[in-house]
Amino acid sequence: MRLTQPFALCALATTLLPVAGAGAQTDATFDRCLAAVRTSRVARGISATTWRELDGVRPDSAVLAQLDAQPEFRLPIWDYVAVMADDERVADGTRLLREHRALFERVEQRFGVDAATVAAVWGIESNFGRGTGTFDVVRSLATLGCLGRRQAYFRGELIGALRILQGGHITRDQFRGSWAGAFGQTQFMPGIFWGRAVDFDGDGRRDLMRSTADALASTANYLRIAGWRPGVPWGIEVRLPQGPAQVFDPHREGRRIRRPLSAWVTRGVTRVDGSPLLRAGISPVLPAGLFRPAGSTGPAFLVTANFEAIYRYNAAESYALAIAHLADRLRGAGPIVAAWPTDDPGLSRADRRELQRLLAARGHAIGAPTGLLTPPVRAAVKLEQVRLGQPPTGRPGQRLLSALRER
Ligand code: CA
Repeated sequence: MRLTQPFALCALATTLLPVAGAGAQTDATFDRCLAAVRTSRVARGISATTWRELDGVRPDSAVLAQLDAQPEFRLPIWDYVAVMADDERVADGTRLLREHRALFERVEQRFGVDAATVAAVWGIESNFGRGTGTFDVVRSLATLGCLGRRQAYFRGELIGALRILQGGHITRDQFRGSWAGAFGQTQFMPGIFWGRAVDFDGDGRRDLMRSTADALASTANYLRIAGWRPGVPWGIEVRLPQGPAQVFDPHREGRRIRRPLSAWVTRGVTRVDGSPLLRAGISPVLPAGLFRPAGSTGPAFLVTANFEAIYRYNAAESYALAIAHLADRLRGAGPIVAAWPTDDPGLSRADRRELQRLLAARGHAIGAPTGLLTPPVRAAVKLEQVRLGQPPTGRPGQRLLSALRER
C-alpha cells in the first residue's frame, strides 16, 4: 500500500522544496513545524513521553528525493507485471501457501478473502516479508509532513505512527518502512492501521512487522472493508468479438462501468481461449466492467468489484492487475495470454540480475546485481543502448538483454 494519490500527478503543481544541504534554515523550519504539529488538534492524546520519540530527529533528504520516483507510475504496465508476477514470486508464494496453510485458512474463514489473494499482496508488498523497507517511519513522516508536498496528509500519518508507538504495537527501533511511511509485511500506512489492523495471533499487539499472522489478517480485513466479495473472481481475461466498433467504444466502457456477465455473453465476449464466459460457479448476473490496461490493443479483462477492492489497497491499475494476476498464478493458472502492445517485453527479477551481471562484465560500475533499477543501472542501460544502436530510453527490456548476451 502506498498512497491514495500518485505523486506523479501532484508533481505537476511544482513547489520549491527545501533540499539536502539547505542547512540551518531547513532545520529551523522543520523544528518550528514539528512544534506546531505538537500543539495542533490532531495531536491530541499523544503523551509527552511519546513526543520524545521525535527528539533529535532531522529531515531525511533521501525521502524528499523519492517524491517523484514511484515505480508503478513510471514503468510501462507490462514491465511492472513482468517483474512483480515473475516465476520466482510464483514459486515462493506456492511454497509459502503450503507452509502457512492453516493460517491462510483461518484468515479466509474470518475475513472471506482467499489465500491466493492475500499471499499475492504479501508477495508484492514486501517479497513475503523479506523487504519491508529500511526508512525510519517516524523520521520519513516528519520529513514529508514538514517539508514535502501534501503536508497535512503526512502530519496525520505522523500522528498515526506516534499512536502506534504509544499503543506498544511496534517498538521504535523496529518501526522501519518505505520512504513514504508504509510499513510491515503488507505495507500499511499508519493512518489506516487503526481501522484495519488486527491482532490475529492473540498476543495483544497488532504487530505488522514481526507477526505474519497479524499482517496477513490485517490485509484480508482491509480488503473486506474495501468491498471484497467472498467466492467471486477478480476478473477474467477475455477475447472481444470482431464487430461494430461502437459496441466497445472506450468512452462508453471502463472497468467501473459494470454489466452482468450475461450481457457480455450477448455481445459475443468469450474467455481468451474462446470458451464460454459462464461456467459452473459463475453467476450470469455478476457485474463486470471492461478493463483494457494498455488501451485498445493488448490484453482485455472483465473485472468485478473485487478488482476495485485491490485497487483501493494502492490506487494504480498496474498494481491491481499485478496482484490479481499473481493470485491467479498461485492458483495454478498460466501467464496472461494476449500479447502486450510492445516488441520488447519486460524483465523478471532473474532477468534483471542477469542484465546487471552483463553490464558489470562490460565494465559498468553498478554495484551488486540486486534486481533493482537504480540510477547507475539506468545510466549504464542508456550507454549500452547507444552502443547497440537502440533507442536510449534507459528502460531495459528483453531486446537489450538478448543483445548483451550475444556481445
Ligand atoms: Ca499480535
